[in-house]
Amino acid sequence: MGTVPSVRGALAPILLAGSLLAIACDPGASPQPAAQSPTAATAGGADAEVLARMAEADAADGTVDRVIRKCMGCSLHMDGDPSHKATAHGYEAHLCSEQCLYRFERDPDAVVMSMKPPE
Ligand SMILES: [Zn+2]
Repeated sequence: MGTVPSVRGALAPILLAGSLLAIACDPGASPQPAAQSPTAATAGGADAEVLARMAEADAADGTVDRVIRKCMGCSLHMDGDPSHKATAHGYEAHLCSEQCLYRFERDPDAVVMSMKPPE
């Protein structure tokens, strides 16, 4: 009847490994694959797709002057406010609110790429 301590001793590492495995592949952490690397994009120059979308957004406000007057955080459905402005890739972007400005300043490329083109 001296087997109980040795069984518990053998189980402990298995339980530990199991919990580490659960942390390593937590399905709720990131649903989309981390294919893009924002730091690489900003370091090595803007992504062509991002630049193309920003050029479209620039033209969408009626003037091609590298100032985007519609809020890119709202897919250009809102007018931007010059007091909420940020710059990215040579463009000046006017955002509609503190929240949109914050999102844009944190990751301009992500905001640009998540814009839905106006119908
Ligand atoms: Zn907005």
